[in-house]
Amino acid sequence: MAITGVLRPGHTQLRVLDLEASVKFYTDIMGLEETGRDSSGRVYFKCLDEVDHHSLIIRQSEKTGMDFYGFRVLDRQTLEKLDSDLRAFGIPTTHIPAGDLLETGERIRFTVPSGHVIELYAEKTNIGNSRGYLNPEVVIEGRRGISPVRLDHWQVHGGDIDGSVKVFTKILGFSVTEQILLGDGTAAAVWLSCSNKAHDIAFVRDERDNTLHHTAFYLDSWHDVLNAADIMGKYRVKVDIGPTRHGITRGATIYAFDPSGNRFETFAGGYTFYPDIPPITWTEDEMGAAIFYHDRKLNEAFLTVVT
Ligand code: FE
Repeated sequence: MAITGVLRPGHTQLRVLDLEASVKFYTDIMGLEETGRDSSGRVYFKCLDEVDHHSLIIRQSEKTGMDFYGFRVLDRQTLEKLDSDLRAFGIPTTHIPAGDLLETGERIRFTVPSGHVIELYAEKTNIGNSRGYLNPEVVIEGRRGISPVRLDHWQVHGGDIDGSVKVFTKILGFSVTEQILLGDGTAAAVWLSCSNKAHDIAFVRDERDNTLHHTAFYLDSWHDVLNAADIMGKYRVKVDIGPTRHGITRGATIYAFDPSGNRFETFAGGYTFYPDIPPITWTEDEMGAAIFYHDRKLNEAFLTVVT
């Protein structure tokens, strides 16, 4: 086994302003499957292709944004080791008991210097998908709407991104895949991978600590991104930008907003990363092309809206 330690973004808890309108959006337009509701009113979803019980949790709130970002780790032993490594590094952790989230084992929670609440967990019930594990079909049953393959990554904003990148690289084992450096050498943004993906999380320097720029859902192909754009048009989803392509990761993308104003991305492609590959650096004057390769400039909403 080559990929060990932190495996992937596994779940995330999003605050929404109107729970039932959001359930309808994430079910009918995004095309996720509702897998449960808990006693506190939270609603759980997974992508039809995913096998773990949930990847997105939404809860009613007066304020938009993300409560926490959860990463699945290999096993219980890994969870315990990372917990002790974080504490030794000076990052306090709290233990959330198994069962607090439906079908999920104990979670280790901590806050990184940019203000974001990160969780690690080793156990979540595999409820499977319509394919199964024995002589599976290619087709996933019941697809509707955008129907992404998986929760893919997040872009988050905060002040001390250097501190957060240090925790992710030194303790959690992530690699820097790409970065935008300002003229004075300061990192404006850093893309990090714990896997073979071009990124699993990105940190962008911003005085607004603990904010979310977007949650990304993965699609299989550029054609699926175009299909997502067609669905956004049909259902009058508020689009930020796209379809277009990133210079960073080389992925195809659309940014749009859910009914509460939380930005999401439908993302496809991106190169395969290996940890021996040195980071790609973009300079400040090429920041536009780094983000949106075709027209090589950033739009106002992309730069200013976070939740
Ligand atoms: Fe993204």
